[in-house]
Amino acid sequence: MISYTDKVIIITGGGSGLGYSAALSIAQLGGKLVLVDMNKKSLEESKKQILEVAPEAEIVLVEANVTSEEDVKNYVQLTMDTFGRIDGFFNNAGIEGKQNLTEEYGSDEFEKVVSVNLNGVFYGMKYVLKVMKQQGHGSIVNTASVGGIRGVGNQSGYAASKHGVVGLTRNSGIEYGQFGVSINAIAPGAIMTPMVEGSLKQMAGDDWESAGKEFVSVNPMKRFGKPEEVGNLVAFLLSDAAKFINATVIPIDGGQSYKY
Ligand code: NAD
Repeated sequence: MISYTDKVIIITGGGSGLGYSAALSIAQLGGKLVLVDMNKKSLEESKKQILEVAPEAEIVLVEANVTSEEDVKNYVQLTMDTFGRIDGFFNNAGIEGKQNLTEEYGSDEFEKVVSVNLNGVFYGMKYVLKVMKQQGHGSIVNTASVGGIRGVGNQSGYAASKHGVVGLTRNSGIEYGQFGVSINAIAPGAIMTPMVEGSLKQMAGDDWESAGKEFVSVNPMKRFGKPEEVGNLVAFLLSDAAKFINATVIPIDGGQSYKY
């Protein structure tokens, strides 16, 4: 039912974790990819690993910082110059930031996290939507988080930015549905990626693996999510099979967010 033949998909944060997994799923379904990341080495590694599984895949790599509006404009322009269309956009690059109580949460840290997670997502939508509106079709998935729909604690910048992503998604989804464009957000719980490993290390240092086990012991499914589970969800949401899903937020967290 799902095919990405002749479809062009941009993925930010494509060098690691959820961005890489979505890229892998979409490449296996025949999509052409533009992978954007600020880390050139991990972009190259992503491409290499995807080509091992999907040797025919067309993959363009763009080194860009999503906090720079100019960089965002450039990756959108480069996609148009290369492929002439944008069918799907996984607007995903993000960081967690340092954990701390609100009063001790650095103002610089707050600005940094909001700048990547919220400004970056806004710039991405701004330039991609211009193209999709003109085309009369397209799908966007923004990466929010359980921290964008619930309080998590010790994460002022992250919570503010991810709640902001949910707001942007609902607002723009309502605006652009009439142009044949769907915009949704995903709200992953704890998915084992380098970001979550870093988060556990912040909380528990060398003991991070046992802290991880304890962390997921309260999850209804008693485990971390797998990046490929998120990759598959994104591949579905950006496909034609999901066209009438719009302006919503889809948790992928083993049910944890309903348990608080
Ligand atoms: P990750 O650290 O494995 O990957 C993030 C990628 O984004 C990295 O390759 C990094 O280089 C890139 N990146 C960071 N800042 C950037 C910038 N300014 N410009 C361009 N690229 C940048 O993390 P992940 O777990 O794959 O996270 C991906 C997204 O999912 C993030 O938005 C994160 O907040 C969100 N998320 C993750 C989880 C989880 O459990 N892993 C849960 C909820 C939400």
